[in-house]
Amino acid sequence: MTNSSDNTDVNTEVVAHELGHAIDLAYMFPGANASASATYNLYTQNDLRELDYSFIGDTPGDSTPRPPCSNDGSAPFDGVVAFDTGEPICDGDTLAYEDDEGLTNSAIAQNHDGHIFSNTGPHGWAEFYAQQYAFAAWGVTINIGTPANASDPTLDGLVNNGYLTCTDVWASDINLTNTTGGPPTSTVPAYCSNSLADPWTCLPFQPLP
Ligand SMILES: [Zn+2]
Repeated sequence: MTNSSDNTDVNTEVVAHELGHAIDLAYMFPGANASASATYNLYTQNDLRELDYSFIGDTPGDSTPRPPCSNDGSAPFDGVVAFDTGEPICDGDTLAYEDDEGLTNSAIAQNHDGHIFSNTGPHGWAEFYAQQYAFAAWGVTINIGTPANASDPTLDGLVNNGYLTCTDVWASDINLTNTTGGPPTSTVPAYCSNSLADPWTCLPFQPLP
């Protein structure tokens, strides 16, 4: 991604993002990105499903949507800034943007930050992977409470609020111990490997049931 800011923290995080791309490509080079692997796809989609639902049943209709915003810091988008507008996604316990109403949380993230929150065909979740690395390597050190210093305040804010954990552990492992770019050796939440068989195959594109 590109960023024209003069902010040193932002620029450093952008460099880390590009390094994340290089690590992604180095995995099984030539031929396969880590971010296009079946395991990374599973971890990403389970992260998005966990973001979307506080209780996960057999189908989306059997599940409990997770409120996007709250007044007590308990919701994923509390304090999170939209990448596309630079403004908060929540206004107290309601959504600030009308076109987010009725969307799942993953679709809200995609609505404001589609460059990162999309599976881009043969390269998989390449932008998501790179930004998760950028947050683990640099963003985590500076952006708490200062989203203006984050190169991607939407993804960074969600991770800072405790979401997208499967892929955050993956990125943190790469930053600290795992030189392969592949799956983490650190413990991830059990839900990271849950089945995403039908009808859960198309995250993050599902509207709320
Ligand atoms: Zn990128």
